[in-house]
Amino acid sequence: MPCKVKWEEMFPDEMERAIEEHPLLYLPYGMCEPHGFHNALGLDGIKCYEICVRAAQEGGGVVAPLTMWHIGEQGIGVPWLTRQSAPQPYITSIGHELFVQGLIWHLRAAVARGFEAVIAMTGHYGGTECDMRSAVEVFNERIPLPIWALADWECIDYKQYKGDHAGPCETSQLWAVRPDLVDVSRIPEHDGSKRIFASALRSGEASRVEGDRIVASQVRNLVEGGNRLLEQSPGDLVDPGPDGAREICAEMVSRDIEWVYMMDTERHGQYWSADDEGGKHRAKTIESHGAML
Ligand SMILES: [Zn+2]
Repeated sequence: MPCKVKWEEMFPDEMERAIEEHPLLYLPYGMCEPHGFHNALGLDGIKCYEICVRAAQEGGGVVAPLTMWHIGEQGIGVPWLTRQSAPQPYITSIGHELFVQGLIWHLRAAVARGFEAVIAMTGHYGGTECDMRSAVEVFNERIPLPIWALADWECIDYKQYKGDHAGPCETSQLWAVRPDLVDVSRIPEHDGSKRIFASALRSGEASRVEGDRIVASQVRNLVEGGNRLLEQSPGDLVDPGPDGAREICAEMVSRDIEWVYMMDTERHGQYWSADDEGGKHRAKTIESHGAML
């Protein structure tokens, strides 16, 4: 039987031992939103969570409960949604400001519980990963907790796959980790010219076997990344307490941070283009084959 890694399923003595052996915490994030008629709505979070669980089983560490309330229906998510042919999107969205403050509280809890490094990974991306890193920067000004904040596509190191939305990459990933939540027989006949419930996937374009390989590359990179984080950890981190978490949140909110997910369409297009910051960042991640930068 694989070792237990899910925080909420552990007995206190199991948790104590897991932290003693490998004080790494995985924080998985996702959001329910349209992912075609063939994928469960919670694809982003479920995929991310299952990948974290496999990485922790392989390399040690604990996986925190999945956070499925995320940033949507605002910023760049508004024009995106209008193009998806999904009049009722069944989204579990919350305010951007709540999500990034939630992340600060999760990081504080990691320190308070005795973890010495964190991998915070989101399965819902396209800017949210950049905003998580901005929040992490503010947190790290006060607490030197080694943190790798990323979107799951950033640690894929297999063929040309670098994430998508309910396309061959994501569908194959979910198919690999939760085959009961993918049903390609639900894909209607279409020519691929427009998105159908936020997916352009046609039958035969996703594969469970490819999903297995994509996920295996992610697990490998996460295990290696987690080890590197722990090597960098100074240990003996001081818990700022709930008051400290509140202060960090207040500091973050008062800053003039350019949140990527909240950019207007024009600025986001410019930022995300090949030559600008976001584009350069994406290219750098892709060149590094998903290795932690
Ligand atoms: Zn997705």
